[in-house]
Amino acid sequence: MIPFALPHIDQKVIDEVTAALKSGWLSTGPRTKLFEERLTEYTGCKKTLCLNSATAGLELMLRWFGVGEGDEVVLPAYTYTATANVVIHCGAKPVFVDVNASDFNINVAEIKKAITSRTKVIMPVDLGGLPCDYDAINALVKQDEVLSKFDPRGTIQEQLGRILVLSDSAHSFGGKYKGKRTGSLTDLSVFSFHAVKNLSTGEGGAVALNLPAPFDNDAIYKYLCVKSLHGQSKDAFSKVQKGEWRYDIVEAGYKWNMPDIAAAIGLVELERYDSLHLPKRKHIIDRYNRSFSATKWAELPVAVDEKNKTESSYHLYTLRIKNITEKQRDDIMKEVFKKDVAVNVHFMPVPMMSFYKGLGYDIKNYPVAYDNYSREISLPIFYDLTDEQTDTVINAVISSVNSVLN
Ligand SMILES: *Cc1c(COP(=O)(O)O)cnc(C)c1O
Repeated sequence: MIPFALPHIDQKVIDEVTAALKSGWLSTGPRTKLFEERLTEYTGCKKTLCLNSATAGLELMLRWFGVGEGDEVVLPAYTYTATANVVIHCGAKPVFVDVNASDFNINVAEIKKAITSRTKVIMPVDLGGLPCDYDAINALVKQDEVLSKFDPRGTIQEQLGRILVLSDSAHSFGGKYKGKRTGSLTDLSVFSFHAVKNLSTGEGGAVALNLPAPFDNDAIYKYLCVKSLHGQSKDAFSKVQKGEWRYDIVEAGYKWNMPDIAAAIGLVELERYDSLHLPKRKHIIDRYNRSFSATKWAELPVAVDEKNKTESSYHLYTLRIKNITEKQRDDIMKEVFKKDVAVNVHFMPVPMMSFYKGLGYDIKNYPVAYDNYSREISLPIFYDLTDEQTDTVINAVISSVNSVLN
């Protein structure tokens, strides 16, 4: 069976994790702090906070901004449920909008229609690794008619004076938009280092802080360290360094910190991300594109947009088959699995999930999201996938499509 995704664990990773284990420092400590610095250099954001997941990062930043009951957060219907669940956790209302037919990302014209005086945050998702149109989204929140609707509650919202843009960049680490990397494209971006993501620490995530003046990103980072660790005024690392045991609890904080064992994996993976991981992913995608572009039925995913100088992080290969139903897509996937190739769907739109249906959301309001989903099959991409295996995947897909369509 060719798996859908596999982590790339080699001796370098094992050596660095072993060094972390032998150092005696397993929880948040020097490796996490170093990983944060390296991430800041890489993405070009102002400051980075590592956490134990992207989900934690999204919720932390919604809570930091004071999002709660009565507030609305605009997000795409086409995403993983984490993007929406965190809004529910905060007691606010997720307002789903439809996505683009061209590239799966949030439709900016639809965002504008969804904005009300209760809108506090927009959460774009860089689906499959392709950055959203951030110039358009950043400009939208500064338009006069959008600004005049904004109804700030609390000092942070007053200070920003507009809707916050919180990017779910779980897929797009290393992706570029107009020559800049994700993390530096908008107010806040959150990366995932989950096991199946491009850069993995097993479990993990990071918040890229990139807030405009007068915000002090260093001071906010310090506050978020406290908020993500019980609200404790000193973390274990600084307590040891200063030889001081006393601490205070300044709020009922969370337990979302990244352990150094995870950061050890991240440090190795980040160092070789551009030389090893991105080129290999691009190589696989180029190979898929070459084969499928020769068929009549394939709609290839957008990975590069020359005009906007946009480049995906090549996280997913979101192949669509033209003019098929959801049932035919499922049948094609069954055929592919029979040929010992694992494929996947990214994603079933969140409004189709039982919990969200129960809240009254209806997929009929998101026709493009449904169309994208019903015709989508994600193909394997991972470092150790060989050319031979890639060809096996291609042949399995082509013959399965032909057998279902004919
Ligand atoms: C994986 C994923 C997340 C959650 O990441 P975790 O690190 O597992 O919390 C959020 N959003 C999207 C779009 C994802 O694919």
